Amino acid sequence: MVDRTPADAIAAAVDAGFDEQVAFTRELVRRPSLRGREATAQDLLARELTRRGFAVDRWRIDVADIEAMPGYSPKPDGYRDAWITVGSLRCAAPEGRSLIVNGHIDVVPEGPHDMWSTPPFDPVIRDGWMHGRGAGDMKSGWVCGLFALEALKRAGYRPAADVVVEAVIEEESTGNGALACLQRGYKADAALIPEPMGHAVMRSQVGVMWFRCMVRGHPVHVAHAGSGANAIEAAYRLIADLHGLEEEWNARGHENYAHLDHPLNFNVGRIEGGDWASSVPAWCRFEMRVGLFPGRDLASARREIEDRIAEAARDDSFLANNPPEIVWDGFQAEGYVLERGTEAETLLARSHEAVFGEELAERALTGATDARFFGLYAGMPALVYGPVAENIHGFDERVNLESCRRVTKTIALFIADWCGLRAA
Ligand SMILES: [Zn+2]
Repeated sequence: MVDRTPADAIAAAVDAGFDEQVAFTRELVRRPSLRGREATAQDLLARELTRRGFAVDRWRIDVADIEAMPGYSPKPDGYRDAWITVGSLRCAAPEGRSLIVNGHIDVVPEGPHDMWSTPPFDPVIRDGWMHGRGAGDMKSGWVCGLFALEALKRAGYRPAADVVVEAVIEEESTGNGALACLQRGYKADAALIPEPMGHAVMRSQVGVMWFRCMVRGHPVHVAHAGSGANAIEAAYRLIADLHGLEEEWNARGHENYAHLDHPLNFNVGRIEGGDWASSVPAWCRFEMRVGLFPGRDLASARREIEDRIAEAARDDSFLANNPPEIVWDGFQAEGYVLERGTEAETLLARSHEAVFGEELAERALTGATDARFFGLYAGMPALVYGPVAENIHGFDERVNLESCRRVTKTIALFIADWCGLRAA
């Protein structure tokens, strides 16, 4: 028997468990955990965590528990079947630092299936990539976290501090799943979120807000269209004005985003309106997502958007008397910057270098993650670091499996350093 260092033994244990890890990722991708339909994926995870020796806590998100907390995003119709699963590996006499490994298992809608080369919820492996909705964002990353812990066990160790594995939902729409975990009392000395960062650590993320805008019109027969007010065309004018504001917000700049052309995006994600091709439409509703730089206060950003819409309405003879209504519904998420020089990041960088043979790069994200809850509201450094994925939120989403293997090794070595090791 050759003497091996713990690091070698842990890396070998990741390799030994990797086929099982891929099979498990596939099982998870097979569960179409779209918003409101995440329960069967959570059932699978609760069973697996129990089987693997975790103490499992499951509960349903209740708006009443979290609505007064900072970071809450409105969900006016509440939650009916919104389950959170948390597995804990507790240590009777902890020596090291505790860790939360957080990941979301909710996925965004897959769109028309005929635009996919393979069925979105029947994962196919091709040339070293697993294809499927959620394969990249971020079921594979969640599984990397679990199998990093499994590798420690396989190598004969266990963490010398508490490790909590969170499977949350709502990451793609509100963040209320991660918030519910904070409310429940889960805290640690650091958090790790294996989102598909392409082997970089996330330095910052933008803030994100959603709103709905209802525009009214005055319906007349199109034969007299000039005497009516077209709600759909008015909505287009408002959207154009909002894009003007988008340019202003980008021009204000932020040090972490200076290298990017257009980091803040306003996106009309949904629009509906009108009832009949030959009637001037009396209504139009659109939904928009806006980005904002870290440090920006949400209330003032909301005010600016409302002012811009009100200004545009004042210039319109019909809208001036029938102002559009704005409802802030969904994401109300502040941006977040991971402070430089934390011990957690230093150790992650060291583990990354040991596995990849290169320095850990950093990334400024133009989207949001759940990291903000740990970083802004719980005083925990939140490391977002994970595998290479492509086409997330698009068609033919996929994750690179070799990348998952190496990320799992990095996470396992990081846990070993951060939490310390004990013989199992
Ligand atoms: Zn994600």
